[in-house]
Amino acid sequence: MLSTFNNSEKCEYNLDDLELWETITKFLDHGLIRDTNTTLSSVRAEYQTLNAWLHLTDRCNLRCSYCYLPHVREDMSLETGYATIDATFRSALANGFKQVKLKYAGGEPLLRFPLIIELHNYAQSLAEKNVLGLEGVVLSNGTLLAPDMIETLKSLDLRLMISLDGMGKYHDSHRPYAGGRGSFADVAEAVDLALANGLVPNISLTVSSRTAEGLPEVMAWILERDLPFSLNFYRENELSASHEDMRLDEEKIINGMLAAFKVIEHNLPRRSLLGGIIDRANLSASHAHTCGVGQNYLVFDQNGQIAKCQMHIRKPITDVYVADPLAVIRADQIGIQNLSVEEKEGCKTCEWKYWCTGGCPLETYRATGRYDVKSPNCNIYKALYPKAVRLEGLRLLKYQDDPEVVVKL
Ligand code: SF4
Ligand code: SF4
Repeated sequence: MLSTFNNSEKCEYNLDDLELWETITKFLDHGLIRDTNTTLSSVRAEYQTLNAWLHLTDRCNLRCSYCYLPHVREDMSLETGYATIDATFRSALANGFKQVKLKYAGGEPLLRFPLIIELHNYAQSLAEKNVLGLEGVVLSNGTLLAPDMIETLKSLDLRLMISLDGMGKYHDSHRPYAGGRGSFADVAEAVDLALANGLVPNISLTVSSRTAEGLPEVMAWILERDLPFSLNFYRENELSASHEDMRLDEEKIINGMLAAFKVIEHNLPRRSLLGGIIDRANLSASHAHTCGVGQNYLVFDQNGQIAKCQMHIRKPITDVYVADPLAVIRADQIGIQNLSVEEKEGCKTCEWKYWCTGGCPLETYRATGRYDVKSPNCNIYKALYPKAVRLEGLRLLKYQDDPEVVVKL
């Protein structure tokens, strides 16, 4: 059970029992329980990786209902691309990060595949020179994936994340081509192509009221292929506001998610469910901020302007030419304010606060005009968290004799 405890409560247990003590120590290490005499920051170093979103192009062959981009015909040049990598590494070194993670995004980044290769080769050389870890992921709609790309991604040690929002009509209702035709068949084919060629894609599902009832079916498809996945809730933006049927209806979302959980219960995966099963919550370790905005996150647009979040890409704070862009992002008091959960009204006394952290700050601000209050999705979260923890418990029990699975806790 997720809980906190203090030293006096320890006396209720027989800590001469070595097995119990080892279990408690493991739970502490993973942030599942917390000694209330310590501060959160001493429990877990939240930010050791500097994340950078590289908007390689604003172009895309799809027209997703929730997209926040205008799709202007603008690409990032190679010169600007190098400058974004240089700026990321400058900030990583200036601020003591141990690792850099690059997200090659857009628009559709596979439209700029040669640029991905150039930039990631360059990033690898900088990481080696500066003794920093490097991770990279391509965030794609999947429709342009080809076998030679898969081989290149593997050789560059790049991961692939593909967006898939449901089976057939559910996916198509969110993610049609520019001409209106559905993209599901091509995306499903791309996932199987990647698997057949030895690359396991991560599936990103966006859940809205329009697609919630289709969740069980797509979950079965994902689990059948043993794919890692994350379930994210739709966030309204200026361009999507007219699609009223996508807005999160609590009952529809909870019912759809619980039906998907039932499917998971009957097909429990070997990998942990705690990281991406409910929107922005991370149930795998205690933390205080929902995302890295304003802390360890740089979002570069195609012209080298830098914003705090990809959904605010058209509201840049600085650019690639400053010495330490992250310092400027961290100092900003005007754009999105990503407060600690301790500062959010309604969250301070919540038993889930160090795993939920109050939801996406941008979504909260859109709904309430404030950053210092709990998420508008709070009721949905509270209905689902206990069920998600139960699922993880069932998973651990199922694989209790498999040492690898316990390590993945
Ligand atoms: S948004 Fe709700 S569930 Fe999340 S920490 Fe705040 S009060 Fe708890
Ligand atoms: S502010 Fe919201 S949309 Fe932006 S990175 Fe954070 S959680 Fe994601």
